[in-house]
Amino acid sequence: MDWPPIKKSPSSWRLQPNLIDYQQTCADFSWDKVRQELDGLPDGRGLNIAHEAVDRHAAGAGQSQVALRWLGKDGQVKDFTYGDLKAQSNRFANVLKTLGVGKGERVFSLSGRIPELYFAALGTLKNISVFCPLFSAFGPEPIAQRLERGDARVLVTTERLYRKKVSALRSSLPKLQYILLADIDQDQDASVLSLPRLLAAASAEFTIPPTDPEDMALLHFTSGTTGKPKGAVHVHNAVLTHYLTGKYVLDLHPGDIFWCTADCGWVTGTSYGIIAPLTHGVTNLVDEADFDAERWCRTLEEQQVNVWYTAPTAIRMMMRSGLKLREKFDLSRLRLVHSVGEPLNPEAVSWGQENLGLPIHDNWWQTETGGIMIANYAALEIRPGSMGRPLPGIEAAIVHRLAEGKIELEEQADCEGDLALRVGWPSMFRGYLHDDERYRNCFVGDWYITGDLAQRDADGYFWFIGRADDIIKTSGHMVGPFEVESVLMEHPAVAEVGVIGKPEPLIGELVKAFVALKPEFEASEELRLELLGFARKKLGSAVAPKEIAFIDNLPKTRSGKIMRRLLKARELGLPEGDISTLEQSQ
Ligand code: ATP
Ligand code: MG
Repeated sequence: MDWPPIKKSPSSWRLQPNLIDYQQTCADFSWDKVRQELDGLPDGRGLNIAHEAVDRHAAGAGQSQVALRWLGKDGQVKDFTYGDLKAQSNRFANVLKTLGVGKGERVFSLSGRIPELYFAALGTLKNISVFCPLFSAFGPEPIAQRLERGDARVLVTTERLYRKKVSALRSSLPKLQYILLADIDQDQDASVLSLPRLLAAASAEFTIPPTDPEDMALLHFTSGTTGKPKGAVHVHNAVLTHYLTGKYVLDLHPGDIFWCTADCGWVTGTSYGIIAPLTHGVTNLVDEADFDAERWCRTLEEQQVNVWYTAPTAIRMMMRSGLKLREKFDLSRLRLVHSVGEPLNPEAVSWGQENLGLPIHDNWWQTETGGIMIANYAALEIRPGSMGRPLPGIEAAIVHRLAEGKIELEEQADCEGDLALRVGWPSMFRGYLHDDERYRNCFVGDWYITGDLAQRDADGYFWFIGRADDIIKTSGHMVGPFEVESVLMEHPAVAEVGVIGKPEPLIGELVKAFVALKPEFEASEELRLELLGFARKKLGSAVAPKEIAFIDNLPKTRSGKIMRRLLKARELGLPEGDISTLEQSQ
């Protein structure tokens, strides 16, 4: 099915969007102008993310505005104003200072979404130490590996997580000097300390030291979808991208309630679960609980969320749950819905229209890019299945790699190639930790080669084809798994699909789909044949899957990405490789 574009008109706007004239905004753009919309540290002492996110609001009328609304698992609600957040992050910065932890040193976190995590993140940035969040459901090995590779000096965690996942491996981590436990009142020994005690003893005043915009601020490990996770280094200047995308993509307005559902263990949970909304002085909602379709809808309603940033996997789970959203919940406050992390099937975009009353806006970026690079915008037409257009200030292109480390820019529309970004945007990663060669190999001349394949249409919309590693070569065709998955998703029985190429001597690779069914459908030979026929009719026999297997759940990363490499390894009986980010139940 060809999905018609979703047009927007001023009459459909609930609030005038920040970005209306895309061409003009791109033409007038300069990063210097964005910098002028921010504060900078007093007396020209540089640029610090935490100052832009918190202190500049706390210094003015924003002081009593709620910065963080925290929803506990058990129904507790805690509000922290910008003034509170300033004081708490100052305290945390003073704790680090007292412990002798300084510039560039790594402060890791390993916890659920508890308020202390947010104080620690912002306090670490204030101290110009480097914040590195880990996902709390990791097992001991992946945690130890990351702490080791990231040169962790401090770890902020909880007693249970420490005991269960870290303490046994402490001896292999000689650089890890302090463990700050968020839920004990008394220190356990000279290195395992009570964070509440330290915070209470610390001053709520802190002067952020001079911060060079190029000072290292964040260390994020990638999702490990395609292999061993890499540690991407980001600097304070990244806040320009966080702010700008908050303005143009998330379309934040004063008074907004914003909810990003990503965990801080992933880059989305930091760039958009902490920094971007705060740079706009809005209220950032944090839910401690994990996904639950009913709870999430209730949260959207009760918390009167205006802008919601989530992921395709959550949207697909909501689709699977069969909840009649608009009949059951009042979602009238919701103005804009965004999704990131994986391709968003057109089916999901239109599900949003029917069930949320709003289309879902897809956007694309990576751990390496530090912020959203390609997006659909509130005021502009959506083409379902497209990631949208580059953020003003970002130059994206389709390129072809040539021999001798050269590339050729693709000028024609609708041609497939490597998605590349012209270097120089503020949140570009500045390195892969301890892997310079790999970092260098990502660049050719002025271009960063993303590792994803895409095409651009005549109007400048980008369409995701697949990760370079996942592309299937079958009978001389290049097939992107997303195209095949999106078509199967249109079948009423299908909840989720992962598509791989399976080596086959005659045709190179054979397209194989793994299908998870909606709960009301049962796997049967009849249904398998029906799906094969359904796909063949829509895709043609060259591209349609030749094999379909039913599977209860697809293997996914903990950030919700389908791990096609694992489907393939299992299919072929090959080693599974690094599975540190695999969801436990898989
Ligand atoms: P690793 O690099 O360790 O294999 P990863 O690439 O999944 O893991 P992330 O940086 O979290 O780690 O994910 C970025 C990737 O996610 C992108 O390169 C792209 O492949 C995919 N992605 C993100 N957003 C979108 C989107 N809107 N459409 C399609 N793909 C997307
Ligand atoms: Mg990647």
